[in-house]
Amino acid sequence: MGRFELRPNEWNTVEVALPADLPEAEELAEFTLDFERAYRRVYSGACAALSEASVEGVEWPAAPEWRPTYKDFNLYFGDPHFHTDLSECDRGYSGSLDENYRFAKERAGLDFASATDHAEHMTEEMWRLTVEKADEWTEEGKFVAIPAFEWTSELFGHRNVYYLHSEWAMLFDSTDPATDSPHKLYRAVRDADERALVVPHHPCQPGFPLPWEDSDPEEERLVEIFSKWGSSEFYGNPLQRSEAQFPGGFVLDALAKGFKFGFVGGSDGHALRPGMRGLTAVWAKRLSREAIFDALWERRCYATTGAKIRLEFTVGGYLMGREVVVNQYQAEALYPLEVVVRAVGTAPIVKVEVVENGIVKFSEQFFDPHGFVLKGWPQGMGGEQRKFVVARWRVDYPVKLRHLSRYFYARVYQADGHMAWSSPVFITVRRDVG
Ligand SMILES: [Zn+2]
Ligand SMILES: [Zn+2]
Repeated sequence: MGRFELRPNEWNTVEVALPADLPEAEELAEFTLDFERAYRRVYSGACAALSEASVEGVEWPAAPEWRPTYKDFNLYFGDPHFHTDLSECDRGYSGSLDENYRFAKERAGLDFASATDHAEHMTEEMWRLTVEKADEWTEEGKFVAIPAFEWTSELFGHRNVYYLHSEWAMLFDSTDPATDSPHKLYRAVRDADERALVVPHHPCQPGFPLPWEDSDPEEERLVEIFSKWGSSEFYGNPLQRSEAQFPGGFVLDALAKGFKFGFVGGSDGHALRPGMRGLTAVWAKRLSREAIFDALWERRCYATTGAKIRLEFTVGGYLMGREVVVNQYQAEALYPLEVVVRAVGTAPIVKVEVVENGIVKFSEQFFDPHGFVLKGWPQGMGGEQRKFVVARWRVDYPVKLRHLSRYFYARVYQADGHMAWSSPVFITVRRDVG
């Protein structure tokens, strides 16, 4: 491959030759970094973006300096939140467990999925069927179904409960006095399967508000930030539904209270369309229920509005979801921190932002606010073309500010309105850490 010139502040089309035996879309991010290096030779700004790459021919130069951060993991997409006819809402329209799992696997092309019917609507027999079907549909390396239910409390909001171990999976109802509060639910779920996950959703909906005061940050490591209910990220966000007006009930409100949430997306659909209104992506070692649980537990996951956007996010080399706990001296040594966002969109990427403790700290825009191409974007963008973005910033502070805890996460915006949110990296500073 020859050298190519890239001009600052302008979009360029670069044709490169890739080896013919690289069939996997997964590999595309690797090439992004080579582009990035080339780009940075001529442009000292923090950000590089590439519009498209043509795959033809067989040459590709070695990239010895590049060590991919996510190389130990594969990316899998799933919808962990949909309802079937076992839920009373829209019964008759939502389809059976089999129909939903078949749609998720064969039509939506998902790697994992989870039917989360309302516990309050299910008999013990229905629950047994839910668990059995999850096992039946799970085939390691091909598709993972996770046994789960939705705990639907009038007083405390909605939470989904996911089980790793089918044999210990138990159903808990929010109207049963034994499990009618979040703390009772955590205890019951933990006694059943200590690796189970409890995930709150649409916390800002005034119809089913979720007061964070009643949640335990230790027990809730994930939050569903997007579904058909819109985005619960913060008050006034562009994907918020108009009725979502419960003050203090947004995800950023919880992060400000010290919750350490990873982000997931799910459709919360009731009409036989898993995967259509919100997705969760996980960076997992393999496609097994256990590996997906490991990724979710470690928050090595992110949410999208439904598009299969590939997103890598690191802060100081730490992967998304990681909490780094340090004392004030160790904290000083962490800085300057390098913040890196790498994304492969399903449509042109309009903008990338990094949020630090609730405010946008870094932002790079590739299109104008109306969605028009800023400059020189190639014409004829088809569905097959991938959009690559690599954004890189350094964050540093005077010594005293380095002694404060903070979190960072990335947002990616596409021209077609789709979005992705990385889980945060948490830098937690504690005086008592040795
Ligand atoms: Zn719900
Ligand atoms: Zn639901």
